[in-house]
Amino acid sequence: MKIPKRFRTYCPFCKKHTEHVAERVKKGKASSLTRIERQKKRQMGLGNSGKFSKVPGGDKPTKRIWLRYRCSECNKAHQRPCFRAKKFDFSE
Ligand SMILES: [Zn+2]
Repeated sequence: MKIPKRFRTYCPFCKKHTEHVAERVKKGKASSLTRIERQKKRQMGLGNSGKFSKVPGGDKPTKRIWLRYRCSECNKAHQRPCFRAKKFDFSE
């Protein structure tokens, strides 16, 4: 999926349509092991691994894209409801 990097949209701060620049919001990577992963590691070993015996669900095929829109007039950023896409790029 491609979206234009600059486009006119409503700015909630200026309360009118202004030009916005879309920014990709990078999701911070979680610490190497999450709480559940530590629990799983401890549980693994001999015998039944309890609730971790289940078949892993795996990752979703698409990732949620987070975008931030920065208004070029007031320079404030606001976020919009995000969407899911396999591939994401800015056209231009
Ligand atoms: Zn604005």
